[in-house]
Amino acid sequence: MSYNIKIERAKQSRISEVDFNNIQFGKSFADHMFIADFYDGAWRDARIVPFDNISMHPATFALHYGQAIFEGMKAYRALDGTVQIFRPEKNLERLNKSAFRMCMEEVPEELFEKALDSLIALDKDWVPSIEGGSLYIRPFMFATDESVGIKPGDRFRFMIFTCPVATYYSAPVKVLITDKYVRAVKGGVGAAKAAGNYAATMYPVKLARAEGYDQILWTDPFEFRWVQEIGTMNVFFQFGEKTIATPTLEDETILDGVTRNSLITLLKEKGYTVEERRISIDEIFEQHANGNLKDAFGAGTAATVAPIAVLGNRGIQYEIADSPNRLCYELKNDLEDIRYGRVPDRFGWMHKVEELIPA
Ligand SMILES: *Cc1c(COP(=O)(O)O)cnc(C)c1O
Repeated sequence: MSYNIKIERAKQSRISEVDFNNIQFGKSFADHMFIADFYDGAWRDARIVPFDNISMHPATFALHYGQAIFEGMKAYRALDGTVQIFRPEKNLERLNKSAFRMCMEEVPEELFEKALDSLIALDKDWVPSIEGGSLYIRPFMFATDESVGIKPGDRFRFMIFTCPVATYYSAPVKVLITDKYVRAVKGGVGAAKAAGNYAATMYPVKLARAEGYDQILWTDPFEFRWVQEIGTMNVFFQFGEKTIATPTLEDETILDGVTRNSLITLLKEKGYTVEERRISIDEIFEQHANGNLKDAFGAGTAATVAPIAVLGNRGIQYEIADSPNRLCYELKNDLEDIRYGRVPDRFGWMHKVEELIPA
């Protein structure tokens, strides 16, 4: 099947309204968006239109039963001026895994790639040239059946919009390890980037914020002991000089992060031993007591890395001293060197945007 994307250009660009030196994360949107609808067994009506509101039937399935998934990735302006997207095939793979788990329709590779290239090429002026800037890309899909009867939907809408974003510096974060709330259980949907996962964490995170923390480090639901992840980030711990541990994907309770996967590759290249395994909070506190917990950080597309300042558990605060020599800062630089084309793309991670749009 070959997909033709119809393009309706915005009459006038809104780009001059944006102050690129002062962008708030996720609050300004580029001129165009992509839409495709799945019905009668196929993806149809692929189109790029001016960014605008969409209208929906009040009984739209996703609004009631949460059959909705999303992705997040970024396009960068390389040193040579070209626009490149970081590992988009990994996001498609994950989108389709989420779709499978949520009984939704997969997006074919050709449609995804063509949509992405056409949209980013059309709005390429929105990819910031400022240091550390990027174009955040948000693909998402939701069930559009119009009915209040619960059954898996058979109509879906797949969309992509983009937001120019500035460098997202994360100050070292204070994370709480709670023993009351959970994010994901084995057999649940923790490994899917499904909308409902985020709604479910808002109340416990609100309570954690009231206690002075930024985020929650989620643990397993039975013992509140085995570490999962933080907010929308995977988590890494450096034990001693050369060992890094990160929770295993085996339980299917955490997201298979593209940043996580990329950091593991970089760490191995640097000669670290990377252990993907179960990690208990007791082990973390013990290593901390021995002076062996050298670094701990979150990893995700928005911030790349978020250094942890404090781990709080049962009234005790375990502090991690900040320093420019932390491994997490080095990893962030290494990734950015590749993303901005300052070093050769030795792992083949950068997808150069093809100019598929008519001039
Ligand atoms: C998106 C996300 C991540 C990070 O994935 P990346 O592909 O690295 O951005 C980690 N955990 C959760 C829960 C997420 O939603």
